[in-house]
Amino acid sequence: MLIVMHHNATEEDIQRVKETIEKLGYRPVAIPGAERTAIGVIGNQGWVDDTPFQDLPGIREIIHVTKPYKLVSRDFHPDDTVVRPGEDIEIGSKGSFAVIAGPCAVESAEQMSTVAKALSSFGVKLLRGGAFKPRTSPHSFQGLREEGLRILNEVKKETGMLIVTEVMSPEHVERVAEVADILQIGARNMQNYDLLVEVGKSGRPVLLKRGLAATLDEWLSSAEYILVQGNENVILCERGIRTYERATRNTADLSVIPLIKEISHLPVIFDPSHATGKRSLVRPMALASVMAGADGVMVEVHPEPDRALSDAAQSLDIEGFAKLYDSLVKLWKFRLSIGL
Ligand code: PEP
Ligand code: MN
Repeated sequence: MLIVMHHNATEEDIQRVKETIEKLGYRPVAIPGAERTAIGVIGNQGWVDDTPFQDLPGIREIIHVTKPYKLVSRDFHPDDTVVRPGEDIEIGSKGSFAVIAGPCAVESAEQMSTVAKALSSFGVKLLRGGAFKPRTSPHSFQGLREEGLRILNEVKKETGMLIVTEVMSPEHVERVAEVADILQIGARNMQNYDLLVEVGKSGRPVLLKRGLAATLDEWLSSAEYILVQGNENVILCERGIRTYERATRNTADLSVIPLIKEISHLPVIFDPSHATGKRSLVRPMALASVMAGADGVMVEVHPEPDRALSDAAQSLDIEGFAKLYDSLVKLWKFRLSIGL
């Protein structure tokens, strides 16, 4: 439930509403906004009886929220959330476009150092690379795990880049968060609720990928699990969904990007690598996502893509990435110039 106050409601009116919410056993959340003051009710598991609020002064409107998520919705938080994983890095603000790049998996210190130095020289500040890899087959490369984290930490010290890496289980959150500036939740774990609670508690920015066949409501409900823990630093990542079409690895659902912007305040980025599975499609689709309103992209780049231990077919080489990066910057400036 959402209680919208009159613009001339007093502090006392607001306080009275909050106390009434608490007396009913729920939690009030203040919803700051330029044009209105509203108070959200959370902690209820069903319909909230609004009778106790009927005669309270200062209330303009009571809105019953029937969606499975509240904190992630614009109703509860009208202004855009900007995630700041590092001092001069903003994800979700109007004036910035985030580029996360790097290999699918951390394979060796040399591979990471080569790719990180190249990316850093172009101006990329966010480095990806999986130490823990969720693979469809147990016979595929599973990642270097602890050794992978150690390599990521070295490369972080060497280049000053921020690290985006996946965490696969709740008991690893603490250790991965020692290295990761952004904790990635993979598509296969989007509905691993214990893991969502744990990354929520960590307070660290979280990159939440859309599940393989998740609806928008399911995806936003998963984000809600993280916000309920008091962690608002969530970045959504569209990475394609499973459809009947097998010509591409997944089907890129670009329309979900402007739709999320309407219903949620969270930043949303696009992963053209997993969405297409094909190197040649990465650049056009990444550029399309800029015009769809994405706050950034995450792209797989490998110094020797054909020798990559995972996702070789969709990985760009350094030259291919340089070309993409140049186009992204140009198109991003164009987008700003037309006020989109
Ligand atoms: C990845 O980013 O390498 C990855 C495993 O992606 P997804 O979870 O989207 O399949
Ligand atoms: Mn991958």
